[in-house]
Order: sequence, then C-alpha cells, then structure tokens
Amino acid sequence: MSDLRELYQEVILDHGKKPRNFSKPVGCNREANGYNPLCGDRVTVYLRVNDGRIEDVGFSGAGCAISMASASLMSEVLKGKTVAEASALFERFRGSVMGKEEAAWDEAEDLDKLAVLFGVREFPMRVKCATLAWHAMAAAAQGKTEEVTTE
Ligand code: ZN
Repeated sequence: MSDLRELYQEVILDHGKKPRNFSKPVGCNREANGYNPLCGDRVTVYLRVNDGRIEDVGFSGAGCAISMASASLMSEVLKGKTVAEASALFERFRGSVMGKEEAAWDEAEDLDKLAVLFGVREFPMRVKCATLAWHAMAAAAQGKTEEVTTE
C-alpha cells in the first residue's frame, strides 16, 4: 500500500509540474473559469465540442499540485467522450474523492488514471482542489460563462 501511495504521489507531482494539455485548443468553442477560494486555485477549462462530443480539452491556470494534476488528468480522460459521458464521469469522480459509496467504475482505463486522486478523501480541504477543474468543465460543457466556485 505504501508503494502505491508513493506511486500516486509521483503521478500527482509529475502532472502538477508538467501539466498535459496546458493550452487553449484550436477551435475551442466552450470555456469556463473555476475558482477555489479555500486554496486560491484558479483554472480555466477549454473545450472544443462538436455534435455533443468533446473533441479537444485544454486548460490554463495556477494553483496547488492537486488542482493542476487533477485538471491535467481530467484533460487526458475526457478527449473523445460525449458531454453526457463526461458529466457521468464527473459524478463518479466526485463521489469517489468525497469517499462516498464506491461509485461503479466500468471504464477501467479512466479509473486507472483518476484513482491517483482518490487519496484526497482523507483530506476534506483538498477535495475542492481535486474537483475544481471538473466543476469548470461541467459549466463549460453546458455553455455557462460565469465563474464557478467550489463554495
Ligand atoms: Zn488547491
């Protein structure tokens, strides 16, 4: 278990330092800002949605390693998913980081990627860091433009 924990920590630090998809995708047609006042994390999530499918995802912003790693990992798993699939995944992810009943994960590949963040359930203050980008993504996907906060 401690090996696993170390591995998870490494993945989070790696994504925190070198976030993937840290840019505005070409043809971006949806975007939303998220702010987590508890930690000071800010993230803008960019989507290119076409015919209900997320063709490309990117983000920008600044914040703690958890918030940046979460946005980075999210950007990797959402590409190619439909907006409906993305919002279902957000619900599952949120349930898992909040330590609520273990949500049914049927897409093993996504679980492998996102499970590194489930450790935040032991740190309630960090749950908002881990879900910030997802809140912004959900707002962007629905075409909302006002800033979302984790409060
Ligand atoms: Zn944070």
